[in-house]
Amino acid sequence: MSAPTHHRMVRWPDDRAAFYREAGCWRGRPLGAYLWESADRGPDRTAVVDGGTRLTYRALAERADLLAERLAERGLARGDRVLVQLPNSWEFVVVTMACLRLGAAPVMMLLPHREYELTSIAEHVGARALFVPADWRGYDHEALAHRVADRVADRLDARPLVLVSGEPSARGSVALADLWEGRGGEAERRARLDANAPSPSDPALFLLSGGTTGMPKLISRTHDDYEYNIRRITEICRVGPDSVYLAVLPAGHNFPLANPGILGTLIAGGRVVLLPSPRPAPVFAAIEAEGVTVTSATPAIALRWMEEAEGCGRDLSSLHFVQVGGSMLSPEVAARIGPALGCRLQQMYGMAEGLICCMPVDAPDEVAHSAQGAPISPYDELLVVDRDGAPVPPGGVGELLTRGPYTPRGYFGAPEQNAASFTRDGWYRTGDLVEITPEGMVVVRGRVKDLINRGGEKVAPGEVEVLVQELPAVAEAAVLGLADPALGERVCLVVRLHPGRRLTLDGVRAALTVRGIAAFKLPERLEVLADLPHTPLGKPDKNALRDLLQTGDRGTAA
Ligand code: AMP
Repeated sequence: MSAPTHHRMVRWPDDRAAFYREAGCWRGRPLGAYLWESADRGPDRTAVVDGGTRLTYRALAERADLLAERLAERGLARGDRVLVQLPNSWEFVVVTMACLRLGAAPVMMLLPHREYELTSIAEHVGARALFVPADWRGYDHEALAHRVADRVADRLDARPLVLVSGEPSARGSVALADLWEGRGGEAERRARLDANAPSPSDPALFLLSGGTTGMPKLISRTHDDYEYNIRRITEICRVGPDSVYLAVLPAGHNFPLANPGILGTLIAGGRVVLLPSPRPAPVFAAIEAEGVTVTSATPAIALRWMEEAEGCGRDLSSLHFVQVGGSMLSPEVAARIGPALGCRLQQMYGMAEGLICCMPVDAPDEVAHSAQGAPISPYDELLVVDRDGAPVPPGGVGELLTRGPYTPRGYFGAPEQNAASFTRDGWYRTGDLVEITPEGMVVVRGRVKDLINRGGEKVAPGEVEVLVQELPAVAEAAVLGLADPALGERVCLVVRLHPGRRLTLDGVRAALTVRGIAAFKLPERLEVLADLPHTPLGKPDKNALRDLLQTGDRGTAA
């Protein structure tokens, strides 16, 4: 059985926790209470729009409560963990709110995740349930969830429940639609759930980190810290009851979920419109139809929108601003986004681990285009250090370390990773190279961590390398990101083979797919070298490899 939450979650030191409470950051109320407050203020206002489905605040809150109680009847309880792998949909919002009300923390998985990721994370957190769509884009997620549940059943106390949105077809699945059907007893149910509400200092949910090695790391975000993060960014972005937020990035990401995103908009009493993909035509149609005021995108998506906005035949004038973040954006492209979409650009820089920086909405253009933004809390601490960990002089470039009221002090149940990713004083090593301007704006200059950023999706090279090394033909492997004009980076695999062996890109991709990893992690380029350059420590020298591949000078290529 997996250890209970409180043994594996790294909490803030007592004195810092007391300070954040006294300063008014942490208010000691669970997130579900804030969502209900919006419902009390405007029960008949529209909360969520998903295609033809519109939910009022009352319908959302009551359906979430009903689901929470039905889940409790099936054995789920406060303090449990569940995996949520759902597309952007009204069901995602109801499930998330139900989990927050019940205190069973959802782990926000991504739709491309497959057996490899789901199994190891389900095991790591001791998942009690898996929420999946019946199928999605031709892939049978229900069958996947059952395979995962079977595999982890022996190692956990109980086989996780498989809860399905849409029409389930497998035996043993529970249809979500059956759980949230029915009326009556709403006030009593609400009172029961309130009386048994989760502790605000416990995890509200878990976000996935890109990590750098092995499996994605889990970031536990408490009700207190996440609510503070949401409150600050919502205030800065001036999101309120008249705001209409369009969610196109995968809802389980921190950016569209809470910055201000889905949760920020709902807590502010605004309207959330969900689309399952960032394809320009449906995005423009939704902006026009719903009067969308704000949306968020990665640079790659913003570029596509820019290319197709002109002559799209849609009225985009309701859009106040578009938030762009997640990967590098050049000032030249940044300058073109606003004019192309007829709105302001708001750059964002941040991470699921906590720290969020954003550009004030009224910043002058030259600042708004060239910097990523300022930290959202006066209690965020930022330190820029050189390779030896010494602070760099003001204006210098170095690795960003950070601490603060919504930046947890460690990953969940990962002491080894924590020793590498956090300093003894609790600073999180972001792995990002930044410069801080005299005005306190963060400018991202690059990266020191070994992480591939493929259009905002993070790929940990170590995770792919471990699997590639299992292939019989492979003697040595290195996975690295190569610059790509559309996505920023793409995954490249460099190998040295055992004598007489062959390997093709299709072969590697097929083998990794069988292992069950998400498709966005599959190598898109394969280079076979007679030998790999090495660092003095004997590891593949990825900088040398990148130079070699990008200049096209293979030297020792086989
Ligand atoms: P995630 O936790 O998936 O949001 O990833 C966080 C990481 O994305 C950061 O540590 C950065 O490496 C990268 N990132 C986020 N925003 C930006 C940005 N505006 N510019 C460059 N990199 C970014």
